[in-house]
Amino acid sequence: MVEKEHKNIQYNTYQRIMNVIDRFLNYVKFDTQSDELTNTTPSTPKQMVFARFLKEELEAIGLEDITLDDNGYLFATLPSNMDHEIPTIGFISHMDTSPDMSGKDVKPRIVKRYDGQDIVLSADDHIVLSPSRFPELLDHVGEDLIVTDGHTLLGADDKAGIAEIVEAMNYLKQHPEIKHGKIRVGFNPDEEIGLGAHKFNVAQFGADWAYTMDGGEVGELEFENFNAAAAKVTVTGTNVHPGSAKNKMVNSMLVANEFIAALPADETPSTTEGYEGFFHLLEMKGEVEKTELSYIIRDHDRAKFEARKQFMLAAAQQLNDAHGEQLVTVDMHDQYYNMREKIEPQMHIIDIAFAAMTEAGVTPKVSAIRGGTDGAQLSFMGLPCPNIFAGGLNFHGKYEFVPIQSIEKAMKVVIKIAELTARRY
Ligand SMILES: [Zn+2]
Repeated sequence: MVEKEHKNIQYNTYQRIMNVIDRFLNYVKFDTQSDELTNTTPSTPKQMVFARFLKEELEAIGLEDITLDDNGYLFATLPSNMDHEIPTIGFISHMDTSPDMSGKDVKPRIVKRYDGQDIVLSADDHIVLSPSRFPELLDHVGEDLIVTDGHTLLGADDKAGIAEIVEAMNYLKQHPEIKHGKIRVGFNPDEEIGLGAHKFNVAQFGADWAYTMDGGEVGELEFENFNAAAAKVTVTGTNVHPGSAKNKMVNSMLVANEFIAALPADETPSTTEGYEGFFHLLEMKGEVEKTELSYIIRDHDRAKFEARKQFMLAAAQQLNDAHGEQLVTVDMHDQYYNMREKIEPQMHIIDIAFAAMTEAGVTPKVSAIRGGTDGAQLSFMGLPCPNIFAGGLNFHGKYEFVPIQSIEKAMKVVIKIAELTARRY
């Protein structure tokens, strides 16, 4: 008992911050870049190396029921310390980093008490992180920023999330006076290539709901994302020698151009924001005989989303009618849906996160994701899963950085969610 008390006194705020930062700085040493071309899970074996390391960390802090499956999904349990049953909650982060930029030999540096000026990441290569280009830096003046050396990404997306969850579990373990129910943690591969959730064993995870700790600025709380579909448009033409082509040739590229023009020009990614949906032409390749267009369709509103899909099909039909033959075919499939419809019937999930942020001294900022998340897919697999900030900024490139104070706040939010869930039940 005496020994325990002594330990609690020693385990002060400074120690807590250093633990979570040390963990983070250790994690970014692992290159865990995912790869969309390999068709394996995890997509790169190096993610498994990191998963094994993490497994040892979870063992070291005394978590239970630790499993790492062949697909690289690492689960563990912090058992309840209460005398009655309450819902099991989960915290989830992804282990991989973006294929967009190398995550090998990351050399993080801490800029103490940031003064609001340019940060020279690499003097040799003139790589500068400047508030003139990234004004969000100015929200963090006076804080301690972890930055890159300008040659790799940092990997705060999402190793900051992992460090926050692991250290929060360690903290709860060290502080049995904080009552909490059973908590599951889950670390998955391949989020950055859109495959973080597909082999996630929701039944084995066994939580009533969970939070992904992923994403940016302090306070972010997200439970809305796009409804998403992909469409492949194939235009079939007829090639004839151009010298004798009159009334015979059908140039598929020109018909494709008509199709593109039939979609609203002001409903594209570059002309929309907030809750505005769009049609996005991702790729086109063509010759006279055949042209293929790849589109994605996005909208937060399910009814508008369905209307967009119908609009595209109708555009194809109109072209076929106008040309008097079946030139255009559309092959369309849904990709994911807005998790809001799964979260809304259980708003306590959001209420608890909201209250936890407030108690942690963080102002919640609810926003709609203009994309998808692992959590959206998990929500439709039976695990309602909104997203909470992990603190990093400028993801997927060399200008990525994370304030130490943001990591600390996110970690506090995890602890508070555990505490408030227990208080509620
Ligand atoms: Zn992420």
